[in-house]
Amino acid sequence: SMASPALLMRVVASAYSVAEKAATIVRNVMSAGDLGIVEKAGPNDLQTKADRLVQMSICASLARKFPKVTIIGEEELPTDDVTEDLIEDGHCEEILKKPCPAQYTGIKEEELVIWVDPLDGTKEYTEGLLDHVTVLIGIAYGGKAIAGVINQPYYNYEAGANAVLGRTIWGVLGMGAFGFQLTEAPAGKHIVVTTRSHSSALVNECIAALKPDHVIRVGGAGNKIIQLIEGKASAYVFASPGCKKWDTCAPEAILHAVGGKLTDIRGNSFQYNKEVKHMNSAGVLATLRNYDYYASRIPNTVKESLVP
Ligand code: AMP
Ligand code: MG
Ligand code: MG
Repeated sequence: SMASPALLMRVVASAYSVAEKAATIVRNVMSAGDLGIVEKAGPNDLQTKADRLVQMSICASLARKFPKVTIIGEEELPTDDVTEDLIEDGHCEEILKKPCPAQYTGIKEEELVIWVDPLDGTKEYTEGLLDHVTVLIGIAYGGKAIAGVINQPYYNYEAGANAVLGRTIWGVLGMGAFGFQLTEAPAGKHIVVTTRSHSSALVNECIAALKPDHVIRVGGAGNKIIQLIEGKASAYVFASPGCKKWDTCAPEAILHAVGGKLTDIRGNSFQYNKEVKHMNSAGVLATLRNYDYYASRIPNTVKESLVP
């Protein structure tokens, strides 16, 4: 008889369905038309009704199924009095059928940390740049990002009414990543993807030093990792504090699952244990291929300006 699926696969299978519910909430809030925008740290750090509802939906749904897992979400909101209509208790059967990588079969609930960005790219969401938006659920074990789910609620939205709207990308280290077509960036071209709404002199100085053929400015950490794995860009470069652990955990796990690399701008890998500082103070550098090419060209002056 079949042994029951490993905890990690059950968590990923549930996170998949929870992220799809989240995407429905993101689309419903936008079509209802009242975004309920609140400024957090300032005008470039926003929260909408979608950020709030999705935070409650994801955290309450996963906490109910996996009560001993540590769940850390971006938005500070209670999860105890969440209404039933926000709870998702389904899971993706396809994922449950896949064997768990051997090194993760013994993981216990209390050893997992889930990093949740209920809506990544909020600024762009409020400006109608809807395909920049993602929902991020990252899963960490032993301080490492080992699995992740990225839902893109408005994938295909410019393709017309007949196109299927939205998609879910997921991955596990040692298994691979699914829900998209892995594509190499154009050979011999240096295409850098970076922030559109959180630029600074240092961000631009760092990019200029790489002498890119082209720079793509789009919102969202999740969206930028999608640009890398679909061959639209060759490096994600962000020489600034601002990204947090919930922005990088799921993207890092998926990128690493397909052989890429994500670090801070100085080349240090991120830790995702529950005690870790949330801010990625030393920025982000990520590539699918040729990480060393970019890492070796980051100016020392830029590295020295960013303290982890
Ligand atoms: P971006 O590439 O600007 O979309 O940023 C990626 C993620 O990091 C998003 O969740 C942003 O909200 C967050 N982020 C980056 N820079 C800042 C900042 N200066 N203040 C607040 N959040 C930031
Ligand atoms: Mg974010
Ligand atoms: Mg967010």
